[in-house]
Amino acid sequence: MSVYVFGHKSPDTDSVAAAISYSALMKAKGEDFVPVIQGKANPETAMVLSRFGFAVPEMMTDAAGKKIALVDHSDLAQAPDNIASAEVVAVVDHHKIGDLTTNSPIFFCNMPVGCSCTVLKTLYDMEGVAVDAKVAGLMMAAILSDTVNFKSPTCTDADKKAVKALSAIAGVTNTDELFMEMLKAKSAVAGVPPMELLHRDYKDFDMKGKKVGVGQLELATLDQVASMRDALYAAMKEQKGSERHSVLLMLTDVVKEGTDLMVLSDEPAIIEGAFGKKLSGNSMWIDGMMSRKKQTIPNLQKAFGC
Ligand code: MG
Ligand code: MG
Ligand code: MG
Repeated sequence: MSVYVFGHKSPDTDSVAAAISYSALMKAKGEDFVPVIQGKANPETAMVLSRFGFAVPEMMTDAAGKKIALVDHSDLAQAPDNIASAEVVAVVDHHKIGDLTTNSPIFFCNMPVGCSCTVLKTLYDMEGVAVDAKVAGLMMAAILSDTVNFKSPTCTDADKKAVKALSAIAGVTNTDELFMEMLKAKSAVAGVPPMELLHRDYKDFDMKGKKVGVGQLELATLDQVASMRDALYAAMKEQKGSERHSVLLMLTDVVKEGTDLMVLSDEPAIIEGAFGKKLSGNSMWIDGMMSRKKQTIPNLQKAFGC
């Protein structure tokens, strides 16, 4: 009976690369492990898969009655449907431990590193299995993605060491260049309707009874949206309506490591105060701002008196 290896829902590059590389490791050990994907591959993942010669894994969302392994998560909310009637035989992850429980002992390997594929590199080494060149490329790309090319606070020395070893196996000499290709795929905006771009990564927040929407677009360069700014602002207006106090759109330049914050607000002074900046037109550049969760929202909450 095959063991299906699931990454999390809303798959990212790590969850797919980890499913493929873990399956390859287990196959090398003579076991029948099959990678699957719980949703459509995002543009970055699709690019990386084709770059290293892989097809998108079979789509599977229901684990009922199956033998399964989880990679890149151990939270039931992110796990496949009907996991209660599945037999989980392994977990390989790099997140906080989730709420999965099992009836029998399983293989469970979780490390506080930047990417599941870094954990997998350790497992390959432990087992004395050589990583296939194509699989190495995929694992390396996943580490670059999860650690934002080593810039994320989650990145560790183990991630850097793994990329060094994997890039040599994959024969990729310039990992910065690969990261930029991935970023361009991930941040592709040409031809995408402005409202869809605003909603690509969007959340509403309650700020002391005022509804504030914040979207984020990660870009390789702000030039990518230069000709779309008016259209994006129009989408923000439509989104705001009368129901929201403010709608913000973070145009994050991942290379320059900062955000041009587009602002539409009933009280723009509050938003300016939150970041100690003045709007020029309908946006302001905020150096070093990369994370909505860790930087934008806490500053807004303070300014709104939450
Ligand atoms: Mg992930
Ligand atoms: Mg991950
Ligand atoms: Mg991620």
